[in-house]
Amino acid sequence: MKKKFAEDKKELFALGEELFRHPELGYKEFTNKKILTEYFAKNGLKVTDLGFRTAFKVSVGSGSPHIGLIAELDALPTLGHPFASKEDNAAHSCGHSTQCAIMAYALVKLKDVIKNGTVTLYFTPAEEFTDIAFRKELIRRHEINYIGGKVNMLTAGQFDGEDLFIHLHTMGEGEYHFSLNTSLAGFMYKEITFRGKATHAAVAPDKGVNALNAFVLFDNAIHMLRETFREEDCVRIHGILSDGGQTVNSIPEKTVYECYVRAMNNDALQSTAEKVDNAAKHCAKALGATVSIKTTPGYLPMNQNELINDIIRENMLKYCKAEEIHDYEKSMAAGDIGDLSLFKPTVQFGYSGFKGNCHGKDLCVCDEDRAYFEPSAIVYDTVLYLLEHPAYTDRIIREFEPKISREDYLDYLNR
Ligand SMILES: [Zn+2]
Repeated sequence: MKKKFAEDKKELFALGEELFRHPELGYKEFTNKKILTEYFAKNGLKVTDLGFRTAFKVSVGSGSPHIGLIAELDALPTLGHPFASKEDNAAHSCGHSTQCAIMAYALVKLKDVIKNGTVTLYFTPAEEFTDIAFRKELIRRHEINYIGGKVNMLTAGQFDGEDLFIHLHTMGEGEYHFSLNTSLAGFMYKEITFRGKATHAAVAPDKGVNALNAFVLFDNAIHMLRETFREEDCVRIHGILSDGGQTVNSIPEKTVYECYVRAMNNDALQSTAEKVDNAAKHCAKALGATVSIKTTPGYLPMNQNELINDIIRENMLKYCKAEEIHDYEKSMAAGDIGDLSLFKPTVQFGYSGFKGNCHGKDLCVCDEDRAYFEPSAIVYDTVLYLLEHPAYTDRIIREFEPKISREDYLDYLNR
């Protein structure tokens, strides 16, 4: 069985290399979609289009359980990358091209061996939170509803049919062979506009309302709130004052503060966002100013499923020692897999075989077995285990509790 899995690995490497050389930004991944569609056609599989411009899926098998696999299609702008596209500097500096090759190869191999159950591989657009003006235009044209690819697919109910999801991501260059149970932070973007009343700053400051002072009071309140942040929540509030006033000789009429709120878990993210909003409202009120707060949801924190990860660990140990697995790393990175993980048992594991920095112009594969073959075999072995051990898979499904209701999630996205 293992020999059969390995026998076409040159094809896996070639597919990965071809995807790496054709980077495209989110919702523009048409060439990647074509390359993958042709790969599946060659292996007797037909893809199903899922809209949102470039989303699609491929299934093998039938009946339950139903296991979902996730691969991300998009690249991100990276100046100076050797394969950066001419028009928008898109490059696979986050290694998503390798995810697509790994998962595609695993699915093709699973097709020939699964006896019961279904495996569906989703190719999701636009994980990177970038190219925002273009995506806002797509939202205006009703081609998408949200910035992140999986957020669109999740709210459209496209992931409803699966019992659990397996995802993976390169760790970039580093000392570990694999990572497991890594956290991902959640974040949201806020644009906070304080409004006062302009008057002559020297002649009649008493008749004005100083919007800059309202911001300064608010900024101090945020600093005072920092002592309420728990270490384990890894809360971050960071921002810039993008408009500090209109002219030096007038009391500032308007100030605009743009910030990110980040945290390691959803409760901390939501409660910190509420603290920020309250501070802005009350500090404005204290000085007679007004405030408006525009929140754009980013992604929610990752909720790793340890039962699935226990099986993945067993399969990783075929390729490395226990101490070469980085367990429970606290990463402040974020991804829209976090949103999905609140609704279904979900994992994202990390793999190596790269040199250079994630999101840097130098990220590239340096060990094809580690960057492609091993993670693909781990996905394959884990899926087979879950299909062949229904009692264990049932336990994963039974013990999982969604971390947010659909209504609260939509409220959060649409407020
Ligand atoms: Zn990434």
